Amino acid sequence: MSDSILRASAAEGSVRIFVANTKNLVQAARMAHGTSPVMTAALGRTLTAGAIMGSMLKNDKDVLTINIKGDGPGGGITVTADSRANVKGYAYNPGADLPLTERGKLDVQGALGYGTLTVIKDLGLKEPYCGQVPLLSGEIAEDITYYFAKSEQVPSAVALGVLVDRDRSVKQAGGFIIQMMPGASEEIISTLEERLKKTDSITKLLESGKTNEDILNLLAEGMEPKILSQIPTAFKCDCSKERVEKALLTIGKKEIAKIIEETGQTTLHCHFCNKNYTFNKDELLNLLQNG
Ligand SMILES: [Zn+2]
Repeated sequence: MSDSILRASAAEGSVRIFVANTKNLVQAARMAHGTSPVMTAALGRTLTAGAIMGSMLKNDKDVLTINIKGDGPGGGITVTADSRANVKGYAYNPGADLPLTERGKLDVQGALGYGTLTVIKDLGLKEPYCGQVPLLSGEIAEDITYYFAKSEQVPSAVALGVLVDRDRSVKQAGGFIIQMMPGASEEIISTLEERLKKTDSITKLLESGKTNEDILNLLAEGMEPKILSQIPTAFKCDCSKERVEKALLTIGKKEIAKIIEETGQTTLHCHFCNKNYTFNKDELLNLLQNG
């Protein structure tokens, strides 16, 4: 099953629901960054949230970034998504490893610790929108829920899950976000709250073979869910040698001349996909002359 995000509404449009399966994209991130199991879970949950929140953006060129900074050994996570649900991201300390919790779970909270969660939306305006909340739980889903309530004033329920296999590969990954629109009745809200209490974890649902549509029907049973669209989502970095060249030019020609003199070459690193771009002497000279 390829990764996708299902967008739906329910209860006559007073509730909107996003369900995502993201196993392949989380696995791609794991392969790119060589993350430990707990950091695969931390990065995978944030990537899943980012992909869904990216798909909420209205315009083609809008970009959303989630920045998590914590005092735990994992350091933090940065994830960027566009409105087509292309998502990229990295963990500050991808190799950070922690023992399982007492309940036998990956200790994402312990890996991230206490800190902040910041959401930045570049909507093509002069100033990007920026909302920040303290990391309440460090488990990410609860923190995103808190962000929606505090910064966007949208009551939401967020579930994010990554199941890492014994060989460290990603067995399941996905999530859902349910949001109450201004017209949502008290009755609908309490029905959903009750339902969420009884719903299995997202990884359990995925592990039992449930599709996005199955999960939607489970969450919104009796609320006449309507599927609006289903869009693909993927781990995709938009870096390229040309882009890195432009970044290199911003340090100034004087600096480039210095590099040529001192080391004769330089390597630039893309944090998002872990790719290195090396520029040899000829390429640097070429940049000096033609850049
Ligand atoms: Zn890249």
